[in-house]
Amino acid sequence: MAVRVAVVGSGPAGFYAAGALLDAELGVEVDMIERLPTPWGLVRLGVAPDHPKLKSVSRAFERIAEKPGFRFFGNVEVGRDLAHADLLQLYDAVVYAFGAQTDKRLGIPGEDLAGSWSATEFVAWYNGHPDYQDLEFDLNVERAVVIGNGNVALDVARMLALTPDELSPTDTTDPAIEAIGRSTLREIVIVGRRGPAQASWTTQELKEMGELAGADVDVDAAELEGAAEDDVHTHRNLDVLREFAARRPTGKPLTIRFLFFRSPVAIHGEVNVEGVELVRNRIEEQDGRLVAVPTDAHETLECGLVFRSVGYRGVGLPELPFDERRGTIHNEGGRVAGHPRAYCAGWIKRGPTGIIGTNKKDATETVRLLLEDLEQGRIAHGEHVTADAVEALLAERGVRAVVYAGWTSIDEYERGAGEKLGRPRVKLRTWEELLEAAERVAETA
Ligand code: NAP
Repeated sequence: MAVRVAVVGSGPAGFYAAGALLDAELGVEVDMIERLPTPWGLVRLGVAPDHPKLKSVSRAFERIAEKPGFRFFGNVEVGRDLAHADLLQLYDAVVYAFGAQTDKRLGIPGEDLAGSWSATEFVAWYNGHPDYQDLEFDLNVERAVVIGNGNVALDVARMLALTPDELSPTDTTDPAIEAIGRSTLREIVIVGRRGPAQASWTTQELKEMGELAGADVDVDAAELEGAAEDDVHTHRNLDVLREFAARRPTGKPLTIRFLFFRSPVAIHGEVNVEGVELVRNRIEEQDGRLVAVPTDAHETLECGLVFRSVGYRGVGLPELPFDERRGTIHNEGGRVAGHPRAYCAGWIKRGPTGIIGTNKKDATETVRLLLEDLEQGRIAHGEHVTADAVEALLAERGVRAVVYAGWTSIDEYERGAGEKLGRPRVKLRTWEELLEAAERVAETA
């Protein structure tokens, strides 16, 4: 009988792990367990809707889901519906690939004022994540400040700046299209604590900031002077920024301004955000790394919105060892430390960095170790491990799992609704709508 593996999480790391397992000569069956009724993780709910090419990786996930031996169980939460101990009973091995569920905090006063948002909340909202649809983004302010110099900061700034014409052919949710369309924003300021040479965004994404229909870009050439251009990537980024700095305003309704060498020290306001206090930094080498060191120079930037885009953060499971500093499950190459038969892949293994494709190599490495453990007898197939056992346990616990046909029903509905409007899909945004659509096909099947 085939070896059975549970993959927890259905984002890129989960799918690449599933693909590598299903391709193994040994004969492995995979159950993918996902908290949401929908698969694809950040490809559906993180990647910006105006980047359809990045989202097209979902085709590869669909092909993996078509492989014999694959099953999907959505609307099943590990930690609520199933415990780690249950998974060890039900499967021969478990691969955790549930990503980074929360965001890093700045740890400064005023962080929780109204109008101070984490980028993850905004991203989840405009992408239709069902847990974030009650959030109300009031974008009717003059200036927004985005803290952080990564690709997510660029996504947030760009999405805020898109015109209705740029948004309408995307699968951005309607409330987000309306709110962004009505916005009175005149300026979006992207603030980096280090210099332009240390920013972690990619060149293509940076370049795009200069190609928006509704926004000019503004960079102070003086902040680019003396930047070390040690590698091709940094050199390209600086070329883009120099080109931005040379531009003159063209009168577009919005300006996206880049500020470097500044850290937020407080967000001011009574109830709502009224400004961000920044401290000027100088860059110093410490233990081989360039770090931002605060000076005495402070300045306050008036604004009505702050988006904190300083990185995601992983959340562990109580039964598994967790590295609090890195926000990852303790592991060696993907083997969970001290827990035979438990593995991890993706952001919960290595931290929230890298692009979608990075997870392929990462998940393949984990699966290679898992298969090695199988071949060398460190994992043996349990006689009691059957495909029916998980369904029986979920039914006993009253869990309405969404199987793959349920997801394809959601998918078909969304694509159909989108087709009429020339959009890739119109997303269902509430748990009720999603579960209802999933069950509709199950009924007609
Ligand atoms: P990221 O690339 O790690 O960027 C985080 C940014 O926050 C860095 O500039 C970091 O500065 C800054 N930061 C951290 N702590 C800070 C603090 N206390 N105060 C001020 N600034 C602080 O993370 P991300 O933007 O969340 O993206 C996550 C991953 O997804 C990245 O690998 C990214 O490339 C990827 N992604 C890719 C795309 C795409 O390909 N289009 C889109 C979105 C995301 P320091 O460098 O000084 O630490």
